[in-house]
Amino acid sequence: DDVPIPLARSAADKLLGGLLLEGFDEESCRSRYESSLYRRNPGRRPSPHLVARLRMHEELQRRCGPNTESYNRAVQRLRDGGGPADAHAPVDEQCKYLVTISYRGLGNRILSAASAFLYAVLTGRVLLVDRSNEMDELFCEPFPGTTWLLPRDSPLATSRANFSADAAESYGNMLRNKVIRTDGNDAPAAQTPAFAYLHLDHGYGDDDKMFFCDDDQRVLSNIQWLVMRTDSYIVPSLFLVTTFQEELDALFPERDAVFHHLSRYLFHPVNHVWGLVARYYRAYLAPARQLVGVQVRVFDHRQARSLHVVLEQITSCAWKEKLLPEILDVDLEHAGMPPPTTPAAGGNSFKAVLITSLRPWFYERIKGMYWERATATGEDVGVHQPSHEEYQHFGERSHDGKAWAEMYLLSLCDVLVTSGWSTFGYVAQGLGGLRPWVMYKPVNITAVPDPPCGRDVSMEPCFHSPPFYDCKTKRGVDTGKIVPHIRHCDDVSWGLKLV
Ligand code: GDP
Repeated sequence: DDVPIPLARSAADKLLGGLLLEGFDEESCRSRYESSLYRRNPGRRPSPHLVARLRMHEELQRRCGPNTESYNRAVQRLRDGGGPADAHAPVDEQCKYLVTISYRGLGNRILSAASAFLYAVLTGRVLLVDRSNEMDELFCEPFPGTTWLLPRDSPLATSRANFSADAAESYGNMLRNKVIRTDGNDAPAAQTPAFAYLHLDHGYGDDDKMFFCDDDQRVLSNIQWLVMRTDSYIVPSLFLVTTFQEELDALFPERDAVFHHLSRYLFHPVNHVWGLVARYYRAYLAPARQLVGVQVRVFDHRQARSLHVVLEQITSCAWKEKLLPEILDVDLEHAGMPPPTTPAAGGNSFKAVLITSLRPWFYERIKGMYWERATATGEDVGVHQPSHEEYQHFGERSHDGKAWAEMYLLSLCDVLVTSGWSTFGYVAQGLGGLRPWVMYKPVNITAVPDPPCGRDVSMEPCFHSPPFYDCKTKRGVDTGKIVPHIRHCDDVSWGLKLV
């Protein structure tokens, strides 16, 4: 169809500075090359090294991915329970794999898949995504000429295998049970397990956390199949593993843009979701001079009973930080304020607010406020909210599609106000390349925190459950104080983030 595209920038960089590869079929995934036309903020440029590594990785995915001989051989070894590496296979065909299992809300799933992808790139493994939790229905294929979806008949698919903290094959349990050793007495090749399960759930134990140590990475590098199950953005802690540091520095000279590049490379909404994004953007957001995204996530049930406090937190944040014009007192309005405004010819003088929330309540209040009262600047403010799903549904396709569309729409805004703690907001800020104003969780639910919000130190997501362990001294350590570019998060004090 030839619906006009809102912001036809003359030289729209549809390949995002070389991050994306030219030549994918455009019809089967419209978002991949069209999204740059909808972005007001062009975002950061990837380093030449990152671009080169991505092209190498695409080649690896093609050479070793499903439906190749290497893949079939690797699956056979897995079924046979491991055994010596395929000595007869040419070295370049000894492919290694990382299966990623994403779970919980969509924000968590996206952060976890991005983390797994980076780990796969760093360790030269093919990334295969388990199909559970709608991971096969929301995103286009990121790698050309192959699939990143784990074949349904894989022995490691969650539809066949059960991965949890007490799985005998978890890396932590294999360490504890001395099936695997990191003390230099590595098991001979014949005893290397066929696969290891990396249990990196937010509630993981100390043995599982050894994943973040160099000796353990050396042992893991000999295992052909790894299965990673996480709900978190583990990337900040990968930056603390010495083995990876040099490569990470080369890939990401701007350390605050790691998720920004990973997410723009990997996550392209499928056509159905892209339709939700593009139609909404064109109909409600494109004409506005400025777009202010407000993501409201109320976690605390007690807080849910005092929604007025949350509403006040939103408006005081937006007004204090001058993101939106204040509304005038009724008396001032009667006295002839503000200066009369006439409809502008182009109609482009207004601001639009995009609210995303599970409820319609905040939207209705804010919309009413800007309709019933004049603003101090005379500027008009349009208020929009695409959906209100009321509560978090699990495993429902249309619900996830809407959530994905809304995260994406938020990422197209000029400025963002987000709710602290929420991975939903993290995804939006990362995709958009935006450093948001974060509304902190109130300690006292009956009062708006002072200040109501603060500017985040970077656009990176926060890793909510990092290890606090020094692999060298084998002691506890504050991992937020080792290097200046990895700090504790403002919204989750024990979390870690890249800046
Ligand atoms: P988090 O729980 O805030 O960290 O974010 P997640 O995305 O991981 O999980 C929350 C889930 O609740 C989302 O994936 C959606 O399914 C739903 N949800 C929360 N907020 C919104 C919203 O503003 N819009 C929509 N459509 N869904 C939401």
